[in-house]
Amino acid sequence: MNSGQPRDLLPRTGVAFLGLGAMGAPMAENLIRRGHALTVWNRSVKKSSAFEGRARIASSPSDAVRDAEIVVLMLADPAAVHAVVDAMLPALVRNALVIDMSTVDPETTRACSAKVHAAGADYFDAPVSGSVVPAKSGKLVILAGGAIAQIDRARTVLEAMGEVRRVGDVGQGMAMKLVLNALGAHMLTGFTAALAFGRKQGLDLRIMLDAISAGAFSSPLFASKGERIARGEFTPDCTLALMLKDQELVMKTAAALDYPMPTERAIRDVLVQAMAAGLGDDDIIGLTRLFEKWAALP
Ligand code: NAP
Repeated sequence: MNSGQPRDLLPRTGVAFLGLGAMGAPMAENLIRRGHALTVWNRSVKKSSAFEGRARIASSPSDAVRDAEIVVLMLADPAAVHAVVDAMLPALVRNALVIDMSTVDPETTRACSAKVHAAGADYFDAPVSGSVVPAKSGKLVILAGGAIAQIDRARTVLEAMGEVRRVGDVGQGMAMKLVLNALGAHMLTGFTAALAFGRKQGLDLRIMLDAISAGAFSSPLFASKGERIARGEFTPDCTLALMLKDQELVMKTAAALDYPMPTERAIRDVLVQAMAAGLGDDDIIGLTRLFEKWAALP
């Protein structure tokens, strides 16, 4: 917080929120709950009409941003971010602040930041760690890359969605997010592959989960995802298709820095096979189904 005032007395700003998917919709809900005057836009109209009566529903990205001091993007991938930024540029308010909370790569952030600056507005990246549950409860970890003054300017907006951590300058939020997604992909791929290996040896799934949680390899990720695997709940918080997109971004970013990352390549190849097996719309724990198939488990 940049003042000692209670949050409810802080001035409200006109906020445009573009991208109301699995993450964007609950994040936008939290902004409304905190009293921000919100305009929403989503490519497919059905998701924005759910906000009827509580937010202004915009007909296009340019209609969304025409009165907004702060613009939040929560979109699927670099192509979506470029398309939406290009579409809204002509209508951006001078000195507006655009915050990209999607997961893309630092190169996309720097390119979009340059386009927005050329239009007379500001831009920083603030991707999030955490999935649908913390998005609903306003407890995301927000990895902000940008000038302190710009992050402070958006603080009441960001703090409606989670806890803000400044990790560096523009682009570094995405760099940090790719570090987390590379780490998470190694953890989750290792976890699901090892559980299939254990089942192949005749071990009970719940006994394995209990043994993992008791020792040095325990993790909140394994606890929450392990429970869902045990219950056979593959409905997505984050899809395998998005996980593949993230690993492609990790590989592309690493390649540009001459860092080969062979284990990342192996994970990317596993994810490509998951897509070919028709698991793209599964939650990321859908990898369990792929490994169980390879292990010829029932
Ligand atoms: P999602 O449910 O698939 O939503 C994606 C959003 O992007 C939708 O609003 C979609 O519009 C929009 N979109 C896609 N392509 C577009 C295009 N070309 N032009 C305009 N809009 C486009 O994804 P999500 O789970 O909310 O994730 C959003 C972002 O957060 C992604 O970058 C993801 O990697 C990241 N993230 C996700 C999680 C998670 O657990 N789900 C966690 C942290 C970060 P339509 O509705 O019209 O398709």
